[in-house]
Amino acid sequence: MDQAFDNDQAITRASLYGTAAEPTYAGITSFMRRRYSRDLTGVDLAISGVPFDTATTNRPGSRFGPRAIRAASIQSAWARHFPWEFDPFDLLACVDYGDCYFDHGTPQDSPALIEAHATRILEAGSALLTLGGDHFISYPLLKAHARKHGTLALIHFDAHSDTWPDEEGKRIDHGTMFYHAAREGLVDPARSVQVGLRTTNDDVMGFQVLDAREVHRSTPEQIAERIRARVGEHPVYLTFDIDCLDPAFAPGTGTPVCGGLSSHQALEILRGLRGINLVGMDVVEVAPPYDNAEVTALAGATLAMEMICLYAARHKLGERT
Ligand code: MN
Ligand code: MN
Repeated sequence: MDQAFDNDQAITRASLYGTAAEPTYAGITSFMRRRYSRDLTGVDLAISGVPFDTATTNRPGSRFGPRAIRAASIQSAWARHFPWEFDPFDLLACVDYGDCYFDHGTPQDSPALIEAHATRILEAGSALLTLGGDHFISYPLLKAHARKHGTLALIHFDAHSDTWPDEEGKRIDHGTMFYHAAREGLVDPARSVQVGLRTTNDDVMGFQVLDAREVHRSTPEQIAERIRARVGEHPVYLTFDIDCLDPAFAPGTGTPVCGGLSSHQALEILRGLRGINLVGMDVVEVAPPYDNAEVTALAGATLAMEMICLYAARHKLGERT
C-alpha cells in the first residue's frame, strides 16, 4: 500500500483490529491509533472522553485531559503493550468514540448528558473506557453502568475518598460521587475497595480502604490479591483518579497529595487483577496545565492500556481470578 495513504490510522485503518507502526509525532491523535468513529457496529470497547472539569474543588484543567491522554498514548501505539503476552487490539474491536459534548453555560445539565452519552454506547452493545475530566463524571457513568449490569463492585484508586456527604443531593462536586453511589445502590461498599487514600475521612461508608501507607508496606501482588478477594466474581467498575499517584509521578492534577503510589506500583497492582469481571472503567483528573513533560498524561494513557488488557483477558480469553 502507498505509505502516503497508509498512515493516519485514526481515519484510514480498514480494520478495527490490530496494531501498526506510525510516526509517534504525526497524525491524528485518536487513543492508541484506534479508528475515530461513532459507528458501534461490532465494537467491543469504545474509548471516549468527557472533558468536564467544573466540579473541581481546587485547580481546574482536566477538561484538557482526554486530548492530552490521547496524544500521550500514540507514543506507545506502535507495538504490543508491555508486558502482556497478547495484543488486546488483536482481540477487541475498539474505536475512539470522540468526546461527550455539553454546553459549558448550562453545567447543571451536564450530569444527565454524560449519563445519556454512556448509556448510548452501552446500549449499542459496547463496553466503555472513559477519559476524564474531573472525577465527578464517574457518578453519571456509574448510573449508566449500574442500569446495565446491576449493583457494581467498585475498585477506586485515589488520594481522596470522594465520599463526602451531600444530603440534599444537589452538589455537582468531585468529592461526593461515591457517597451517592453507595447510598443509591449503584455500588456495593461490601464488595468495593479504595486504594491509595491519604487524606482524612473518618466515615468510610463500608468501603474497604487500602490506604497509601498500606500499599507502600505491601507488594503490589499482595494488594492485588486483597482487591481480588474483595470483589470476587462480581461485575467491577474500575475508576482511577490520577492523583492516586504521587505528585512526583503525576503532577498534572487538580488536588495533588504527597506520599502516593509510584506509576510502577499502580501498574503492577492493575496487572495483578487479571481475571476480574471488569465491566466499566475510567481514568480521571489528568489536568495538563499543571503537568511537566507530559508525564501525567503518559501515566494516564498507560493505566488506560492496562485496563484494556484486563478487559480483553476476561472477556476474550475467558480468564477468571
Ligand atoms: Mn477522586
Ligand atoms: Mn483525588
